[in-house]
Amino acid sequence: MADLVNEFSWSNSKYSAYEYCARAFWNKHYGSWGGWDSRGSKEAQQLYLLKNLKNRRTWPGTVLHDEARLVLQDIMHGREIDADKAIERAKLRMRQQFAFSVAGAYRASPKKTLGLVEHELKEVVAKKEWTEVAQKVERAIRNLFDCDAFSRALSAGCAAWRGIESKAEFMLDGIRIWIEPDFAFSNIDGYVEVVDWKTGKPNEDDARQIVGYAAFAEKVWKESPWDIQARLVYLSGEEPIEVEVPISSAAIRQWETDTRGKIDEIAKLLVGADIGRNLARKQDFPMTEHISKCAGCEYRVVCGRQA
Ligand code: SF4
Repeated sequence: MADLVNEFSWSNSKYSAYEYCARAFWNKHYGSWGGWDSRGSKEAQQLYLLKNLKNRRTWPGTVLHDEARLVLQDIMHGREIDADKAIERAKLRMRQQFAFSVAGAYRASPKKTLGLVEHELKEVVAKKEWTEVAQKVERAIRNLFDCDAFSRALSAGCAAWRGIESKAEFMLDGIRIWIEPDFAFSNIDGYVEVVDWKTGKPNEDDARQIVGYAAFAEKVWKESPWDIQARLVYLSGEEPIEVEVPISSAAIRQWETDTRGKIDEIAKLLVGADIGRNLARKQDFPMTEHISKCAGCEYRVVCGRQA
């Protein structure tokens, strides 16, 4: 098998990590490289393990996305499913994942077995907080079944569904752009509707991310921007909130311009600013000066920022 190459590529989540803290970005995308191999350096192995962990704030999103995919697949295959059954299945999965995490099973296969930062870093978390995590997932799944996007997808019928959580790529100026739209379908009004399920609070970054999905639909699916609708569906509140992000040719061109700028920003920090070699030195990616960010970061022990 050919050696894996750490190719320079871009995704919204990659840039978010960089904006949060340049060192976190380096840890995740460069320092951890090769850490899946026991012959890799100890540092790479530790960073690889840490980068694959979830925590009590990100775990609900993972569970919700997994469950949304399973629900849509159930419907496609004609299996009976409702909110109660989906919640029961998600909670069972969470109980199993939690038990495996407590036992440290993720250490043997960090990518395949879910582990939680709280267990790895032996953080003391009140039982009430874990209960709230489960309640958030329950609310999100109920809202999934209640939201308008779900109704529209059912009205359109499975034959009109275009993709469920499928990782995809397209090129921008020779750089690979990775995206993973949660769901897309052709709705009964004749639009291609791209939907992203969210468990956090509405923010501008979500809008930027979904315009990137529209750029993919234009470039790869050859859809006209005027025929694309992009919707963010926030599921963790008392009721679902749907936010439509306007899509136009101008919005997609602006996204491309912004993305080129972000790629340049990171490329400048690489050795010789050489995207082709894609070598990054730790010292060129400084630790954040905002210490408060470190409290919830999985790298706080390796950075010496453990409170
Ligand atoms: S612990 Fe702080 S400095 Fe280190 S990677 Fe995380 S946010 Fe950055």
